[in-house]
Amino acid sequence: MKKKFCTLICCLVAGLLSLAGLAGCGKVSLLEENLIDDNYDNYYEIFVRSFKDSDGDGVGDLNGVTEKLDYIRDLGYTGIWLMPIHPSPSYHGYDVTDYYNVHSDYGTLEDYENLIQSAHDRGIKVIIDLVVNHTSSRHPWFTSSVVYKNGNGGSAEYVDYYNWSTKNLEGYNKNGNIYYESHFDSNMPDLNLDSSKVRSEIENIMKFWINKGTDGFRLDGVLYYYKGQDLKSADFCKWIKQTAVKYNPKAYIVGEAWTNSIDSLSDYYESGCDSFFCFPASQASGYVAASVNTNSAATYWSSSKIVKDMAGNGIPAPFIGNHDTGRAAGVMQRNPDKIKFAYGLLSMYNGNTFTYYGDEIGMIGSQNDPDKRIGMLWDTKENTTKAPPGVTSTEYIFPGVKKQLKDSNSILNYYKVCNNARNAFPAIMRGESKLLANDDPFVLAFQKTYGDETVKIVINFAESEKKIGGIEGTLAQGICVSGKVKQSSGTLTLPKYSIAILK
Ligand code: CA
Repeated sequence: MKKKFCTLICCLVAGLLSLAGLAGCGKVSLLEENLIDDNYDNYYEIFVRSFKDSDGDGVGDLNGVTEKLDYIRDLGYTGIWLMPIHPSPSYHGYDVTDYYNVHSDYGTLEDYENLIQSAHDRGIKVIIDLVVNHTSSRHPWFTSSVVYKNGNGGSAEYVDYYNWSTKNLEGYNKNGNIYYESHFDSNMPDLNLDSSKVRSEIENIMKFWINKGTDGFRLDGVLYYYKGQDLKSADFCKWIKQTAVKYNPKAYIVGEAWTNSIDSLSDYYESGCDSFFCFPASQASGYVAASVNTNSAATYWSSSKIVKDMAGNGIPAPFIGNHDTGRAAGVMQRNPDKIKFAYGLLSMYNGNTFTYYGDEIGMIGSQNDPDKRIGMLWDTKENTTKAPPGVTSTEYIFPGVKKQLKDSNSILNYYKVCNNARNAFPAIMRGESKLLANDDPFVLAFQKTYGDETVKIVINFAESEKKIGGIEGTLAQGICVSGKVKQSSGTLTLPKYSIAILK
């Protein structure tokens, strides 16, 4: 219901914009959306601290995200993933001190509820990071337990929440006379996930946020739940999914199992969680970059089958970069044509794509983590949020949102056309694929079928124009890094790195 309403609004807005005479000035040709009420969505990952400041203190906040929901929806995203929003001593928030509140820098629980309502009004789902492999070492559960374990008072109440040892084991750190499991960092003590008290706490946390309207969770660091025991970790993921759906039958769960092993990822999908990020498709050595850099239709075609098949009955979750990896523009060597084409190829995969904020304008990072999390460039560098601690570079190589929105050939508008195609043709995200014959190794022609819809997709991987005949159907959308796809007397003319979608 909400999605249909939103489609109507979007069409009205598009109509008004064209009436306002903006044609040729940022106008891109968009198709009418055909959204289905399921867990397939284009997701946009947001680091709240660096996204949008609403109150002038220079720090991004939840109200800032709310202000930008129209921007996000207009880009074609129907889901957002918020990196941790809870109180935490670190700037990134992956060490939580209170799971039932919002970081004071980010706002209040009321701001969160308002964000959820505003997102839902626009047909956008909101998922949040669920960081339950570990807490902060400053979490009261840990601080009271570590004092108790050292025989200095404290409380025994939460001792069972963590794993302790009198010996120095691998992955343990020391406090006083006692060692505690903490694989990531000494500031991140691992929770004892075998404890029924911990599980009941995690259930309460999920219930708390689902009751606020949260549509699902991104599970942080699932490989670490039971480090080195993937099946046991997958079983815990299964428990999370089963617990979440008790409170929202549609809860969407996507796990971070950071591995390139297809077998492992398939095992994790057996848990029944909706999605696990497709790391093999991401970063400089992943499927998407390899397909672009080798101009290879065959590489892309085989990867598209792997991406879909590893998910079994679940939803693939391909992406190019996130807050821990190189940004998409860096992965594609800062080359605007390659940055665009990489997103085009990602967008033709089945499943939910995940886009890290700022990748749609070609923001870049560096090897240094804080540099991957700098202020969103809405306009000029002067009006971004404060740099997170530890930033060594705030380089921006492409214009900000304001300029790119007005440039029909911008990276931003290319992303918009890709997302729109996915929203217009349900088969792109959900369909069964079949190869269509053609005799050019630089050109891939295939079709996707979902229900009674079949779309044909023809991709030119070459850095020069290609003419392809023999593909039946009517051109519905051309996605080009430059130029235009044309169809005449049964022949498609495909500019370099272009994608044609036929009905
Ligand atoms: Ca602020």
